[in-house]
Amino acid sequence: MPPFVDDSRYAPDSLKQIFALHNHPFGTRLSARDLRFIESMATVHDWEVLTREGRIRLSIVAFFSRSRDASAPTCDGFYQYVPATREMMLWTRTGGRWKQESHGTVTWLDERTYRLDAL
Ligand SMILES: [Zn+2]
Repeated sequence: MPPFVDDSRYAPDSLKQIFALHNHPFGTRLSARDLRFIESMATVHDWEVLTREGRIRLSIVAFFSRSRDASAPTCDGFYQYVPATREMMLWTRTGGRWKQESHGTVTWLDERTYRLDAL
C-alpha cells in the first residue's frame, strides 16, 4: 500500500491516512508483518488525525469470516491494532450489533515476534 495518495478531486492536505484495511479470510489475528507495516506508516503519518468526528488514531484492521463456505463468506468481525497505544482489539458482530473487546497490549520480543499481554 502506498504511503501517500494523490487525488486531484481533493486539496493536497485534505486527504489523511487513518486505517489500513485488509482481509484475513481464515480468521487469524494480525501478523507481525501487519504490525510492522502500520508502525512504519506511523513514522510518515500522524499517529492521530483530527476529523469532523473527532480524533482518530492511525490503525491497521484485518477483517475475518467464520463462514465454512468459501463461496459464501460473511463479515464476522475484525482485529484492529493501534500503534499509538500498542493495543490490539477484537471487534465481533452478532446479529446487527458490534462488540469491542481488548485483545491485549503488544510487546515486541524480536523483529518478527510479538507477545500479547491482557490488560
Ligand atoms: Zn494481515
